Amino acid sequence: MDDGGHSVELRGVTKRHGATVAVDRLSLAIRTGEFFSILGPSGSGKTTTLRLLAGFEQPDAGEIIIEGRHMEGVPPNRRPVNLVFQNYALFPHMTVAKNVAFGLEMQGLAEAEIGPRVAGALEMVRLAAKRDRLPSQLSGGEQQRVALARALVNRPAVLLLDEPLGALDKQLRLEMEVELKALQERVGITFVCVTHDQEEALTMSDRLAVMHHGKLLQVGTPEDIYTAPASAFVANFIGVSNSLSGRVEGIIGQHATVAVEGIGVIHAPAVPGVAAGTPVLVTVRPERLHLSRDEAHDGFQNHMPVRVAKAIYAGNETQYLLTLPNKHMWKARIPNADGAAKRFHAGESAYLKWRTAEAVLLPE
Ligand code: ADP
Ligand code: MG
Repeated sequence: MDDGGHSVELRGVTKRHGATVAVDRLSLAIRTGEFFSILGPSGSGKTTTLRLLAGFEQPDAGEIIIEGRHMEGVPPNRRPVNLVFQNYALFPHMTVAKNVAFGLEMQGLAEAEIGPRVAGALEMVRLAAKRDRLPSQLSGGEQQRVALARALVNRPAVLLLDEPLGALDKQLRLEMEVELKALQERVGITFVCVTHDQEEALTMSDRLAVMHHGKLLQVGTPEDIYTAPASAFVANFIGVSNSLSGRVEGIIGQHATVAVEGIGVIHAPAVPGVAAGTPVLVTVRPERLHLSRDEAHDGFQNHMPVRVAKAIYAGNETQYLLTLPNKHMWKARIPNADGAAKRFHAGESAYLKWRTAEAVLLPE
């Protein structure tokens, strides 16, 4: 999809609400045809960013460029974007087809043009068969698809979605994540999707941005962000990560040794800008850990005795809560493929092991 061009650009955009800096010098370039997510906790400035793109708010500083055009002074209805609201905002007394046609009728388009465009939009979201229903006669997922059709019927170059799956229950949300990504690929336009749900952002997006307190923390593919978080906040927000605080003892080439009180020396890949003496956080994801009854190192550079505080059987894996020698609690997720004999129970002693490359070193 990427033709090398950018569909949306924000350059140093700042937006204040009174004393609150809702968006703080945000610079971002979103490629044409990509599914781009903005991920952040509540209050991080996601909705404000979408409203700035849609033209419902004006930036205090910075520039917004959409499809190569500067947006300063361009009203919402003249921008090549459409915003799908968090709560769908469907008209309850109008049929599905009427809801989708409404915007075009307001623009004064001819009946002969409205009909085929509504049919096409309903086809895209696979709701052609339910065109004469009322919103109350649809499931939550279907109502969401009507809201999408109502935006797509305007043929925007960019679709802006504010927490599009937020109103749906967990199971339906998982289905809609797949559905929404497939829809984006079918229509081939740029999607900018805002969410506070890290799983959702990782599943659907080609790339994502992580925001906190109005600031951009990191941009990358889901894999970039998951495997190489740029800060402790991103590591924790993107998924459960175990961590230990320590001080870098030495660096030899690509390898750092870190002294951790109550544990000893642990090994992690070196990162630029981190020298001997730097306070750091070593993080390791729960699924990268190994648990064994055998004291031998087995090629794992990191190795320590732990006690199993809790073991939760979860079908394909067991989730453990482990007490480290310094009394910190870590989580481990170990596949059950090896059979019950190898599972551990609460109260048991074990050896926790991981390879140097499995850890991520972050400046504290
Ligand atoms: P998010 O969508 O990530 O939850 P918002 O963009 O809605 O975040 O809000 C970012 C910050 O700006 C929050 O601190 C919020 O309270 C504040 N804010 C948003 N809109 C307004 C407003 N209209 N008036 C005052 N403060 C606002
Ligand atoms: Mg919001």
